[in-house]
Amino acid sequence: MCCSSSIARDKATMGEPEAFDISAVKGMKFFDPHVHMTSRTTDDYQAMADAGVVALIEPAFWLGQPRTGLDSFRDYYSSLIGWERFRSSQFGIKHYCTIGLNSREANNESLAEQVMEILPLFIYKEGVVGIGEIGFDDQTAAEEKYYRLQLELAKEAGLPVQVHTPHRDKKKGTQRSMDIALEHGLDPYQVIIDHNNEETVKEVLDRGFFAAFTIYPFTKMGNERMVEIVKQYGAERIMVNSAADWGISDPLAVPKTAALMKMRGLSDQDIELVTYRNAITAFAQSGQIDEADFNAQADLTEKFEGNTILRGGQQPRPDKSSIIIS
Ligand SMILES: [Zn+2]
Repeated sequence: MCCSSSIARDKATMGEPEAFDISAVKGMKFFDPHVHMTSRTTDDYQAMADAGVVALIEPAFWLGQPRTGLDSFRDYYSSLIGWERFRSSQFGIKHYCTIGLNSREANNESLAEQVMEILPLFIYKEGVVGIGEIGFDDQTAAEEKYYRLQLELAKEAGLPVQVHTPHRDKKKGTQRSMDIALEHGLDPYQVIIDHNNEETVKEVLDRGFFAAFTIYPFTKMGNERMVEIVKQYGAERIMVNSAADWGISDPLAVPKTAALMKMRGLSDQDIELVTYRNAITAFAQSGQIDEADFNAQADLTEKFEGNTILRGGQQPRPDKSSIIIS
């Protein structure tokens, strides 16, 4: 074999992944409150719909490729409230988004200044359920400056905040994110602290914030550990997401985690709270979420600005067999 990938190596150290049996959660509904669908394919949308994902939130973030101007942000935000929402609707999945300047791009200060000026044009649009994802990446002064400015914006708009916590020096970054949010007078019940782990969860819950967990394939924060966290801390104010994007990630992380929870004996009620209900409770504070909208049938005759996802009379593809999270 020519190329042993790093994924294969990680798998070797992490052991064999748990098989995903969708039948364990057949009929359950899921809400993925953090998934970057702009980076995903129509196959992903179809697989998510097949697995029971009825609604999702797409937070604004960075594109991998550095941006060269304000128009790139403008088009991206427009896409989150326009084309991407339409694409999602074609699979019967209700699409919401959060709008913000992400921490990484806050470090390009000349551009960040301009982005702050256009944010108010987007945050009051239909389907925008919060300011996000904002917070710390490298924990720089610029990141702190724009985090604070956007907390003020959230307060002014009465919107929930979706906080990205740093992957390096996570505990300190998470504490700092919460301290600053409280300093700006935000109600912790309106703030969703994301990318938690065992090190951060207790304090986040104790201080009254929502605690979101991202299930990353081939890392330690797989869904096996998530089951243990819910067993230990209960289901209140905890939510699971995939944070699937253009990197190695799994848009089925939420239903797969629900299936594993079911296999590990968690109650249907707790599973529903962490994979559906708590995210709705948190983000419905925006006034933008109505569960009655989740059941809309995809109307494939619809177009968005004259454009469709269909090519030559196609229909979205049928079921495909599922994969697994280690
Ligand atoms: Zn993200």
